[in-house]
Amino acid sequence: MLRFFNTLTGQTEEFRPMREGEAKMYYCGPTVWDYGHVGNFRSVICTDILRRYLKFKGFRVTHVMNITDVDDRIIAQSLKAKLPIDEYTEKYIAAFWEDFEALGCERPEVVPRATRHIPEMVSLIEKLEDRGHAYRSDDSIYYRISSFKEYGKLSKINFAGNIAGASERIDTDKYEKEDARDFALWKGAESPDEPAWDTGIGRGRPGWHIECSAMSMKYLGETFDIHAGGVDLIFPHHENEIAQSEGATGKQFVKYWIHYEHLKVNGESMSKSKGNYYTFRDLQEQGFSATAVRYYLLSVPYRKQINLTLEGLRAAEKTVGSLRDFHARLKEAKVEPGANEHLRDAERRALEEFEAGMDDDLNTSVALAAIHNLTREVNTAIADHALYEENKRELLALIERFNSVFNIFVEEQPLLLDEEIQKLIDERQEARRRRDFARADEIRYELNSRGITLEDTKDGVRWKRR
Ligand code: AMP
Ligand code: ZN
Repeated sequence: MLRFFNTLTGQTEEFRPMREGEAKMYYCGPTVWDYGHVGNFRSVICTDILRRYLKFKGFRVTHVMNITDVDDRIIAQSLKAKLPIDEYTEKYIAAFWEDFEALGCERPEVVPRATRHIPEMVSLIEKLEDRGHAYRSDDSIYYRISSFKEYGKLSKINFAGNIAGASERIDTDKYEKEDARDFALWKGAESPDEPAWDTGIGRGRPGWHIECSAMSMKYLGETFDIHAGGVDLIFPHHENEIAQSEGATGKQFVKYWIHYEHLKVNGESMSKSKGNYYTFRDLQEQGFSATAVRYYLLSVPYRKQINLTLEGLRAAEKTVGSLRDFHARLKEAKVEPGANEHLRDAERRALEEFEAGMDDDLNTSVALAAIHNLTREVNTAIADHALYEENKRELLALIERFNSVFNIFVEEQPLLLDEEIQKLIDERQEARRRRDFARADEIRYELNSRGITLEDTKDGVRWKRR
């Protein structure tokens, strides 16, 4: 029986989707103002494990992940770069997908971008105005929190006092609000430099929270099963999403709210604003493989914090290496017909323990322990010539099943030959001459992910293997 800890009820509950055999989930995806840090990717990977395990359990999954491609940081950075926001965010969207794929994540079914859903947001805001949940002040529109009696039901925060500034991401607008807690649904255009849309509610741009209500309900319906994100989003973002969606529809918005703990550095949440962050690219530059980073980030159950350490990453690198060796040894093992029943018991036990762990609120560390125990037993059997044909076939299939969730048994890419490296470097130089910097970056990234570091010197490009 699959159970999740539901932030809304504060309890671990059996997962019972609205429609049998189907799971509809939404994850608050990246804000593409810069490269994501590995903390962001912890959340991305937790979501990947969630979707993959739902599929493992036989659910048909519809997974939506938004891309926030307009917000204050994007506007500020694109103004600085003198680029329209779409051109500015393009690079970071491409980088996000590169990292996403390198880290072995499966693409969600739907990936809506905020800037492509302005009409949906406008009509939701109009509904909120009709129902008395929104009001205008100057050219902006705010959500009237006092009109939504259940405000606070997710975060369980006591709203008696003034809570402006309670979170980094709370809206601290300069406009006039009825109540300091009220948040912006729509921000009237202030200067001609800002990106703005001409709509039935005026010229301006959406507040940050409205996009997730509008896009999740568009693709998943007014009520859906699972909404996920990092713990930082519980308040105010998800609280506001509930107020917006339930205020507009009068129906329950989401059944299960799942929140991931943060990746920390020296006890503090990794974040851009604190400056204590590494991107995935930084870790690759230091020689860590994508699979090791994935393993490291998924090995701790999602409700526990992880404190990022290089020793931990090195240990993960070793572990994924030994899993890879194990897989290769198993594939190459010479076997006689028949089966070892003792080993069969171990196979059954491993699958049971894996599933029991994952059923228990996605306890990845229990599930991984089941895999490691099995590899030890199989290694012993191989050494003792006690692995038989049927065991081998079953074990390879079992690894496929485990891997459909974890994706950590990954073949090593063959070493690049010197000529191949030189060819790619030449191609990169040619791309730069054409000013095709996207292609040039792609090649650098490809080489980097294959363990080759480039150094641009005045005498040309030098490379070295890590
Ligand atoms: P953002 O790009 O800031 O909108 O965040 C994207 C996702 O990363 C959200 O689900 C956040 O909750 C999550 N997130 C942000 N910081 C961390 C962190 N240090 N550890 C884990 N997840 C994080
Ligand atoms: Zn969101």
